[in-house]
Amino acid sequence: KVRVRFAPSPTGALHLGGVRTALYDYLFAKNQGGEFVLRIEDTDTARYVEGAEDYIMNSLEWCGIIPDESPKIGGPYAPYRQSERRDIYDRYKEQILKTDYAYLAFDTPEELDSIRKKFEAKGDVFSYNYQTRQQLRNSISLSSEEVQKLLDENVPYVVRFKMPIDRTLNLQDIIRGNFSVNTNTLDDKVLIKNDGMPTYHFANVVDDFEMKISHVIRGEEWLPSMPLHVLLYEAMNWEAPKFAHLSLILKPEGKGKLSKRDGAKFGFPVFPMDFKDPESDEIWKGYKESGYFPEAFINMTALLGWTPANDKEIVSLDEMIAEFDLHKVHKAGARFDPQKAKWFNQEYLKLKSDEEVLLLLKEVDEVKSLNLSDEKLLKIISLMKERANFVADIYNDGKFFFETPTSYDEKALKKAWNETTSAVLKDLSTKLETTEFDSEVLKETIHHFAEEQSLGMGKVMMPLRLALVGELKGPDVPDIMNIIGKEETLARIEKAIN
Ligand code: GLU
Repeated sequence: KVRVRFAPSPTGALHLGGVRTALYDYLFAKNQGGEFVLRIEDTDTARYVEGAEDYIMNSLEWCGIIPDESPKIGGPYAPYRQSERRDIYDRYKEQILKTDYAYLAFDTPEELDSIRKKFEAKGDVFSYNYQTRQQLRNSISLSSEEVQKLLDENVPYVVRFKMPIDRTLNLQDIIRGNFSVNTNTLDDKVLIKNDGMPTYHFANVVDDFEMKISHVIRGEEWLPSMPLHVLLYEAMNWEAPKFAHLSLILKPEGKGKLSKRDGAKFGFPVFPMDFKDPESDEIWKGYKESGYFPEAFINMTALLGWTPANDKEIVSLDEMIAEFDLHKVHKAGARFDPQKAKWFNQEYLKLKSDEEVLLLLKEVDEVKSLNLSDEKLLKIISLMKERANFVADIYNDGKFFFETPTSYDEKALKKAWNETTSAVLKDLSTKLETTEFDSEVLKETIHHFAEEQSLGMGKVMMPLRLALVGELKGPDVPDIMNIIGKEETLARIEKAIN
């Protein structure tokens, strides 16, 4: 049975890379008819951030990545929070200590520090490993009487993994393929800290076993831990799960890992939801707050490292589930493109009916206070929807529908206006007074007017647009006139020529 877990540590905001890992975990599990588990890895109390766990769960929910088992939902392998599983780790600590894969180490941080300094003085790097462990204070170098004495005296100790000497491990990663590592390059990692709490490595492997996880799909930063994890399974006599390590998400330039700071630079952050960092009091605004639809965000995220069949770009969560294949996940890093992210949202906006957009537009604060009729808003939506990336753009880029321009774009003035323009617009204005304000009729009328005056269409349309919009942009001028109405149109022309 396929069981996959997403195992975040509640150390801060969930970033784009984290969401992608959760999404791939979820897609693979569902594609295989398996289960998706959310486990909170909170054994590192020093890095614990209040509120981060809720934030992670809410973010996933917003994305539509719904776990089958989690701290909130519960499940057959509860509890799903590592801080509540201490008795389980205690049990397995005893078990691994009975093997030849673990030992007690009594070295104090001060002792380790001074050894580290001695190494550095010689230009070497200290590593607690097969070469140094004999000279340090642990149950390998000390006699069993000495060890017992220390234990009786309640001297604090850690449990370390005893890395086997000179073994070549042949490892398999679903995405990266086969690779080998010699164990002499690896150190004796701490499994249990001196306060009795497990480290990430031990808790993670114990839980993956206990929770019957079949596939570990996680970020590339955990690839260096894979040899140790595989050996931990061996030590415990357990069958290891299959591993897949996802490549990094890169900055738009294609070099370097995407960071928090990049988010701010793009004008929208790399987090899926608003998060207040209780430590810095900084508020990280997220995709949600930037106006992204969760479907668009998830679609964009899924394609950072995976390509659906026929290079299709717009795929629903259900289609992704149906098509997802770990073997097709890219080995190379995925470049994040902020423009493309917006494009995805635009595509999803286009897919919504005008009525759906109406409901969303009425949620925009500025629009709420305007009290416009649905009929008018629907007309605006039909004109603006195609070119908007976000619902709020319909208001922001269509401000002229709602308010009279207070200034005119300099460049546009130079281009559209000359000494005769005011007179032309005045004549047009007179004509418009008796014109029915229907888009087609207006188009005809302006056309005729330009002909009568022996002027090119642009000579009339451009200054008229400038008078109504304040810039040379927006949808067709007769459509704008139709929406703002006769009185407002004439007032705006009047204002522009004076
Ligand atoms: N707790 C680890 C993290 O925060 C989980 C790594 C893993 O999936 O093994 O990323």
